[in-house]
Amino acid sequence: MEIKEMLYEGKAKQVFATENPDIVMVHYKDDATAFNGLKKGTITGKGVINNRVTNFMMKKLEAAGIPTHFVEELNDRDTLVKKVSIVPLEVIIRNISAGSFAKRFGVEEGIVFENPTIEYSYKNDDLGDPMINTAQALALKLATPEEIETIRTMAFKVNDIMKAFFQEVGVDLVDFKLEFGRLSDGTIVLADEISPDTCRFWDSKTHEKLDKDRFRRDLGGVEDAYEEMRRRIFGA
Ligand code: UDP
Repeated sequence: MEIKEMLYEGKAKQVFATENPDIVMVHYKDDATAFNGLKKGTITGKGVINNRVTNFMMKKLEAAGIPTHFVEELNDRDTLVKKVSIVPLEVIIRNISAGSFAKRFGVEEGIVFENPTIEYSYKNDDLGDPMINTAQALALKLATPEEIETIRTMAFKVNDIMKAFFQEVGVDLVDFKLEFGRLSDGTIVLADEISPDTCRFWDSKTHEKLDKDRFRRDLGGVEDAYEEMRRRIFGA
């Protein structure tokens, strides 16, 4: 597959056109940002790990009946995916209190919820990705009612599958962010990435953080945490 011009450059990834108008190539970088781009840095080897972890999860979810954008892993950092138009909503599922949830509601981190929560942010860097509810998302025509229902159902199903998988490798899935896209025929598919950049992972026994919070909070051992997640998922 011939790779053509770069279509888009984001904080952690680049997207390139290919000779097939329905397929694009994602390139994973080692660049890391946090707090809406205020904090910048490099996490050596992150792109390789996030590419492999994302593709592993996408294949697992696809096998469980979740449609995804995944097509083919080309190499360590490059993957072919179906071209989608991204629904401008970040979908956040939480199993345990942490991060902005703990801050917003004035509770400690680590409260295990009886039922997972769902919330949405409006994907808009200029506005700092504000929290949005489904009525507001409908008012702004960010998605149709049917799309929002599909996204909600799929997000909880993704949580069930991922939670069970990570439990097996000794990791608590605390929370994570998903993005969905529309294919040219309107079908909603899971898109973007699933990695230590977009999920909170805590070691089930020690509760050690094995995700991007080590970078956000200057905890040190950032590369080691990503490597540990790679090892948990793929083995030695
Ligand atoms: N998250 C993300 N991208 C964002 C915001 C959040 O991938 O722009 C992920 C984050 O890694 C965590 C979950 O979504 O796993 C919930 O994040 P939270 O709302 O607590 O925000 P944060 O504390 O990361 O600012």
